Amino acid sequence: MLIRLFVFIILFYLLYKIINVFKQSRFIKNENYQFKSSSIGAEDLVKDPVCNKYIPRSQAYKREILGKDYYFCSKQCSDRFILEKNN
Ligand SMILES: [Zn+2]
Repeated sequence: MLIRLFVFIILFYLLYKIINVFKQSRFIKNENYQFKSSSIGAEDLVKDPVCNKYIPRSQAYKREILGKDYYFCSKQCSDRFILEKNN
């Protein structure tokens, strides 16, 4: 019984480690992407969460919802987003 418990603990520990590695690699990938786009000198693109369009930050319709900044291609999209959030 005790050995079984021990094996379970090791398995959970390994799972935890694997998840951490995945999280870290994803983070590094994101950083690389940001670095690449800034080195080109291109303007930051923001994603519209409603229609999944990419818009330059300066042209995006910015709206703060629950303390988080969201960017939309138009006012209609932002209104739709708020409607969907409320439902
Ligand atoms: Zn949109």
